[in-house]
Amino acid sequence: MLDHIQLKNISAHAYEQCLKCSICTVYCPVSAVEPNYPGPKHAGPDLLRYRLKDPDYFNETLKLCLNCKRCEVACPHGVKVGDIIQEARIQYSHHSPSLRDRMLANTDFVGSMATMVAPLTNFFLGLKPAKYVLDRIMKIDEHRQFPAYSGQKFETWFHRHAENDQRNFHRFVGYFHGCYVNYNFPKLGQDFVKIMNACGYGVHLLEKEKCCGVALIANGLSSQAKRQGEVNMASMRKSIDEGNEAVLTTSSTCTFTMRDEYKDLLKINNDGVRSHLMLATRFLCQLIDEGKIKLAFRKDFHKKVAYHTACHMERMGWAVYSIRLLQMIPGLDLTVLESQCCGIAGTYGFKKENYERSQKIGAPLFKQIKDVNPQCVATDCETCKWQIEMSTGYPVENPISLIADALDVEKTKELNK
Ligand code: SF4
Ligand code: SF4
Repeated sequence: MLDHIQLKNISAHAYEQCLKCSICTVYCPVSAVEPNYPGPKHAGPDLLRYRLKDPDYFNETLKLCLNCKRCEVACPHGVKVGDIIQEARIQYSHHSPSLRDRMLANTDFVGSMATMVAPLTNFFLGLKPAKYVLDRIMKIDEHRQFPAYSGQKFETWFHRHAENDQRNFHRFVGYFHGCYVNYNFPKLGQDFVKIMNACGYGVHLLEKEKCCGVALIANGLSSQAKRQGEVNMASMRKSIDEGNEAVLTTSSTCTFTMRDEYKDLLKINNDGVRSHLMLATRFLCQLIDEGKIKLAFRKDFHKKVAYHTACHMERMGWAVYSIRLLQMIPGLDLTVLESQCCGIAGTYGFKKENYERSQKIGAPLFKQIKDVNPQCVATDCETCKWQIEMSTGYPVENPISLIADALDVEKTKELNK
């Protein structure tokens, strides 16, 4: 059964601004490696003219688009090329999502099941015969490494070990932790709480949190994404009404989806929430600039780090905040890599039909990392982390975890009393 919301020509206003300069095509990571992809100019504004007359002009090769939005960053005329392509996929694709696509997209359901038996799940997903079966039957490429599941969800840790302590604060923020923190890597959420508490802020979780829906949108399940998005928006609105200064995140992809894809693609009203919803690194930079907080760092922290700008960080223009914070750490030797797509694009790179293309797209970035030879790579996107760790062997950390590791907690608390 098809699961898509009907959108009536919502891009009709945008495509006429295209002057056919083809700059977007130069910056498209798929066009660089895939001769069968028509490229953003043709797949976006050009073919939209035809699709508006006859939906049969929809071309299944549009599914090769990563939705990285690098074409939109490049376009000098503000054409929302990536949105035009995504809208066409939502509106015109006649292919129902497969069982594989539904499994990859339902991160909340799969994560809840997997964390219940995490050691068994991790063991099974690491076995060669299991990978072989997933490859042959489910078409999930056997080379792909799955992120490990945690034995305890972040939410469980928070309720047991951190919630009571939050009552000691007078200023608060809400936290959208996302699926990765909840099911795979609670430490990132713990690092976030550590930093906010040291800065004098208590942390509240949202009353209800659902997966942001990025993987649902990518896999043709936009109606489900919209339902989940409406739950998230209602919870965030409540969180802000209750006095939390902002709703913070530690994932660039979740942030971009909820700020921009909700309103532009899913037509979810996020007015009044969007301006309060941001990455933790942006919020911390704002507080520092306004003289409201200070950070102190350990003198014995030393690390050589290369920063990778994830595609959605590039689209939001927010890499500057994570980079600025990392540059404040005296013992951190930072190289900012040239911004290039890593190729995974969430669930895209897990699919057998995309795996080789995904690795080709990421190859120039992997070379850059190897040339710098850092102790670790920093990035704000968890799926970039999986791709870079698997393809280069270098460990990857979220900037929040690096800041938490380098932070002199007692001194920071003193400074923010
Ligand atoms: S969103 Fe990315 S992959 Fe898709 S057309 Fe634009 S640049 Fe190419
Ligand atoms: S960069 Fe913008 S104006 Fe130029 S071809 Fe692409 S969409 Fe059209």
